[in-house]
Amino acid sequence: SEYADISLKDIDQVSKSSFPLCMRHLFEKLREDHHLKHGGRMQLGLFLKGVGLKLDDALAFWREEFTKKVGSERFDKEYAYAIRHNYGKEGKRTDYTPYACSKIITSAPGVGDHHGCPYRHFSEDNLKAALNRMGLSSRGMEDVMDKVRNKHYQLACTLTFEAVYGTSCDTGINHPNQYFEESQKILKS
Ligand code: SF4
Repeated sequence: SEYADISLKDIDQVSKSSFPLCMRHLFEKLREDHHLKHGGRMQLGLFLKGVGLKLDDALAFWREEFTKKVGSERFDKEYAYAIRHNYGKEGKRTDYTPYACSKIITSAPGVGDHHGCPYRHFSEDNLKAALNRMGLSSRGMEDVMDKVRNKHYQLACTLTFEAVYGTSCDTGINHPNQYFEESQKILKS
C-alpha cells in the first residue's frame, strides 16, 4: 500500500486507528475467539494483504491465533494453504484482490459468521454499541443510523469516517482498503 505497509507489531494499534468497522469487527473476533470461519478469513485476509501485510507476516499472524485452538500441524494442513493461495502462491496463482464494499454488503453471513458489513448486517443495538466504541457522539450516531435505516450503508460508513477523523470525505467510502488509505493519509499528515 502507498501509505503504510503494516507490520505485525503495529497491527493491533493500526486496527483501532485505521480499520473500517467491518475489519475492526473481524479483527477483534479473531483475537477473541482465535478463529474465524471461511468468509471472515477471506474478507479480513485479503484486506490485510491490501494494506501491505507481507505473506510471511500474514502466516505468522493467523498462526498465532489459530494455534491457540488447533494444533500447529492442523494449521499448516488446513489453513496455511488458503493463506498462500490468497497471495497467489498456490493453485492457479491468481493474485486475489480485496473485496469492495458492494461485495461485502451483498454477502450473506450465517450464524457464527463475522464477515459482512456491520451497517448492513448488525442489529441496531450492536451497531450503536460498536459506533459508541469508535467514539461517535449521540448526534453523530443518529446521523449514521438515519443512513442505515434508508439502506445507504456506504454513506453510513462515510459519515462514521468523517466523525472519527473530523474531516470530510468527499469521494465517499466504497472500499475498506480505501477507508484505510484515507485514514492513514489523515493520521500521517
Ligand atoms: Fe466495510 Fe464498506 Fe461496510 Fe464500511 S461500508 S463497514 S468499509 S463494507
